[in-house]
Amino acid sequence: MTTLTSSIAIEKTKHSRINEVDFNNLEFGKHIADHMLVAEYDKGRWGAPAVMPFGEMRMTPAILSLHYGQAVFEGMKAFRMKNGDINIFRPHKHLSRFNKSLERMCMPTISEEMWLSSLQAIIETDQQWVPDGEGSSLYIRPLVFASESRLGVKVSDQYKFVIMTCPVGPYQAKPYRLKVESHFVRTAEGGTGFAKCAGNYGGAFYPTQIAREEGFDQVLWTDSKEHKYIDEVGMMNVMFVLNGNLVTPQLNTAILDGVTRDSILTLAKEIPTFKVEERRVTVEEIEQGFAKGTLTEAFGAGTAAVVAPIAVININGKDLQIPTAGPTSFQQQVKKKLHNLRMGLEPDPYGWNFIVKI
Ligand SMILES: *Cc1c(COP(=O)(O)O)cnc(C)c1O
Repeated sequence: MTTLTSSIAIEKTKHSRINEVDFNNLEFGKHIADHMLVAEYDKGRWGAPAVMPFGEMRMTPAILSLHYGQAVFEGMKAFRMKNGDINIFRPHKHLSRFNKSLERMCMPTISEEMWLSSLQAIIETDQQWVPDGEGSSLYIRPLVFASESRLGVKVSDQYKFVIMTCPVGPYQAKPYRLKVESHFVRTAEGGTGFAKCAGNYGGAFYPTQIAREEGFDQVLWTDSKEHKYIDEVGMMNVMFVLNGNLVTPQLNTAILDGVTRDSILTLAKEIPTFKVEERRVTVEEIEQGFAKGTLTEAFGAGTAAVVAPIAVININGKDLQIPTAGPTSFQQQVKKKLHNLRMGLEPDPYGWNFIVKI
């Protein structure tokens, strides 16, 4: 059956896979929802997006993204609110980052109209896939990649825009053990670190794998010149409570501008006694803060985990055991506040919630 919603054609699957999913036991990224949205870019413009059953796409191995890396993605979430509405969290902020990433990679940007109508269409079609369990959500993965089939290094003339989704449960991983990286770099200033482009992740796998073999979960990246300043974690920004203030590395071209980071900083500014410091953060002051007992919290901030407690920071072979974050910790409180805002249990003064029309 093909119907039309605000000029987006929708072809529904005849074989829903939703009954294969155990919604009480969701594994991140395992069950991709029934449908995907696809739009094609050619001759200088985006064509109309269409919703279709999720599945294979016909392509040749000569598509330029596979060779030269023009591939950019986003990661965001839709929540089932307490009143049953579906809420996409901060889609405008995600679009602005998406477009910055696309520009950096010489790829065509997406208009706000196309973005919002595409999100509306795909979420409306797969609305049954939005879980309602405590701490669950529908992860949304938009992607643009170069699809022109041709050899030779060049900027592609053709692209595909795809949105896929998958239901995810509450984040339950144990607190992170991080290794401060003092040899490899993820990216350098002037590079593509601020863009959510595919190559950044491929390049990070090798150092991360070495860290895993040494017993860590992730690498804590430092600046590429001196390995003196802290940048961020693999898929998360990093935050500390130091001397009673919230401290996080200030953004530069090597650091991804996390939406969760921005949300937490905004909410932290509401606490009268709490100072927020966005500045360069040295590895040394983290070591000293730990020694003096003034480093009381360390956590990662990202869409997947929201807040991910850090248990260990390893600096030059020495483990710093970070105190466990109890229910009155800043990270637990801000996580709760963000949760309540997104579920509609608390007001949304910043206009972060985008309610899908059903
Ligand atoms: C996606 C990502 C983050 C977190 O960004 P959010 O918008 O909060 O999900 C942080 N660092 C890197 C490298 C990322 O890819």
